[in-house]
Amino acid sequence: MYNLWPYQYPFLPEMMNFWAFVVFVLGACIGSFLNVCIWRIPRDESIFSPPSRCPACGHWIRCYENIPLLSWIFLRGKCSQCGVRISFRYFFVELLTGVLFLLVWLKIIFEQQPLVLAVIYFAVTMLVVTTIFIDIEHRIIPDETTYPVMLTGLVIPLIFPEVWGRHSRLDAFLFSFAGFFVALIFSLAFSLIGKRIFRREALGLGDVKFLAAIGACFGLPGFIFILFIGSLLGSVGGIIKSLIRKKKLRRLTIPFGPYLAFAAYLWMLYGQSLAKWYLEFIHHAANLLKNV
Ligand SMILES: [Zn+2]
Repeated sequence: MYNLWPYQYPFLPEMMNFWAFVVFVLGACIGSFLNVCIWRIPRDESIFSPPSRCPACGHWIRCYENIPLLSWIFLRGKCSQCGVRISFRYFFVELLTGVLFLLVWLKIIFEQQPLVLAVIYFAVTMLVVTTIFIDIEHRIIPDETTYPVMLTGLVIPLIFPEVWGRHSRLDAFLFSFAGFFVALIFSLAFSLIGKRIFRREALGLGDVKFLAAIGACFGLPGFIFILFIGSLLGSVGGIIKSLIRKKKLRRLTIPFGPYLAFAAYLWMLYGQSLAKWYLEFIHHAANLLKNV
C-alpha cells in the first residue's frame, strides 16, 4: 500500500480524508473571499477595506458572522441586525469553491501528480468562479482576476520545475511561457481581426487576458483544448439562446468567459485523458483509412 504513494506526499494515506477536508474548508474560505471580489471588483471598490457591511442597515459583519457556509445557515440567510435577506449566492459561491477545490485536489492525489500542481489548479479555480459570476452579470473579466493567475502560472515552474515533470527550471518555465506567449498573440490577433470583420467585439480584451493566463498555467496543449471546447460550448449556448429569445444570433451578445471557464475546469479534471483518447481515435481512424 505504501509503495503506491510517492515520497513527495508529506502525509500518510490514512490522513487522506483529513487533508481532503482541509482542502474543502480552504476552498470555502477562499469562496468567501471570492464573494467580496465578485461584488466589489466590477464596482471599482477595494477588496481589502472597509470590512463587509450589511447593504441595508450598514451593520458591520462580525467575525463569527463571517464563517464560510456555517454563518449563512445559522443566520438563516438574514442580517442579524435588520433581518434583510442575504442572497443565496454567497452560500452557493462558498460551497461551489469548496467542492471545486476538493475535486481538483482528489484528481491530483489519485493520479499521483506533483502536489505543487495544486497551487496552479487552485489559482485557476478561483479565476473560473469569478469569471462565471462577474462576466455573466457585468460582461467583463477584470485584470485583478487574470493577472495574478498569469503570474502564478509563470512563476511556479521557475521555483518548482517538477510541476511539469522537468528537472531544469528553464525547461519548465519555457513550457509555461510558450503557452502564455502563443495564447496571447493568437487571441489578440483573433480579437483585432474579429473586430474588423464582424464590426463588433468578437473576443474582448478580458477574454484575451483570460486565455493568456490559461496558456501560462497549462501550456500549449491546455490552451488549444480550452479554446476549442470553449468555442464549441459557446456556439451551442449561443444557438440555444437565440432559439429561446427568437433573435438572430448576430444580434445577441454572448459572454464567452463562462464557457472558457467551464472548459478550463474540464481540462484540469479530464484534459489529459480526453487528449489521449482523441489522439488514439485519430490513430485508429488513420489505420482504418490505410486498410480501405
Ligand atoms: Zn442589516
